[in-house]
Amino acid sequence: TAPVIGFIGLGQMGLPMATNLYTKSRATSPSAPFLVYDVVPQAVTAFTSAHKTSSGGAVQSVDSIAALARQADVIVTMLPTSAHVKQVYMTDLLPNVRPGTLLIDSSTIDPAVSKLVANALIKDAKCEAVDAPVSGGFLGAQAGTLTFMVGGDRKAFERARPLLQHMGKNIVHCGEQVGTGQVAKICNNMILGSTMVAVSEAMNLGVKLGMDPKLLAGIVNSSSGRCWSSDTYNPVPGVMEGVPSARGYEGGFGITLMQKDMGLALAAAESVKAPVPMAAAADNVFKNAMTVDELKKKDMSVVYQWLAGTFTK
Ligand code: NAD
Repeated sequence: TAPVIGFIGLGQMGLPMATNLYTKSRATSPSAPFLVYDVVPQAVTAFTSAHKTSSGGAVQSVDSIAALARQADVIVTMLPTSAHVKQVYMTDLLPNVRPGTLLIDSSTIDPAVSKLVANALIKDAKCEAVDAPVSGGFLGAQAGTLTFMVGGDRKAFERARPLLQHMGKNIVHCGEQVGTGQVAKICNNMILGSTMVAVSEAMNLGVKLGMDPKLLAGIVNSSSGRCWSSDTYNPVPGVMEGVPSARGYEGGFGITLMQKDMGLALAAAESVKAPVPMAAAADNVFKNAMTVDELKKKDMSVVYQWLAGTFTK
């Protein structure tokens, strides 16, 4: 019989991911219950109201994580930070899950916390667990084209894979240890944070020295300074269309989440004494930009405006 799936955390990423998981798993198992939970009731309603009429009642909102855990065969979590994941796993899931349940955490968190919570569930509740953070952002979540970086033993990975394929395109096994998915994710995002600051300061320097930003970006993008932050997500308004800098830095990848990931990378680097001087400098720039309330709600590429001195404390 088809597994009963439970999904916890219906935010910016979780809502479109749950939508794809539900819609695609329903194609092969139309009557299997699909359980959803979020601490914000409106987030749950956004999902249930979209699917109740077409589903024939397979979608169920539950009033607690405990209730979800008692029924689900597979549980996916998409939560903001390590603290949220720790709370949900240790307080709500651990005492209530059934043995054999597969837990998939797609949040971006500290690899050590991934390992800790997964091992507690594996040892004390006889569950299977993987970490499976994603890249691809909101658009990838909507399109079902996310990349999943998965850590955990091969058997758990193979069990998770068909479900992850409903939400993503590339499902990569990063290692036998839970937490290796997070390692891949935070290394990538550490480069992203550093290049976004590097591109922002270079563009600002060029503009201040009298260069046209679009022309400068064009030269960089056909030269050795080219990177994702310069050619796909340029932070200077007027250089590209369809990116946050073209729409007042709304939407996209929040600067607070970017800085959270820099913090995760720095802490992980400290734990193994790996030097990361570039990332540390970039982290400081994000932190300084976040002291301005108006910038705190924006996409991370707004760091360009901070460096340009558009906003001051
Ligand atoms: P979000 O804040 O939009 O969503 C998180 C959801 O979790 C919210 O709806 C919140 O109410 C819910 N929640 C919080 N505590 C809860 C609890 N105890 N029980 C149940 N629900 C709870 O965040 P997001 O943008 O969806 O990001 C989720 C994770 O994915 C983060 O770790 C983020 O770093 C990562 N990520 C985000 C993006 C992106 O572009 N937004 C891209 C890749 C990875």
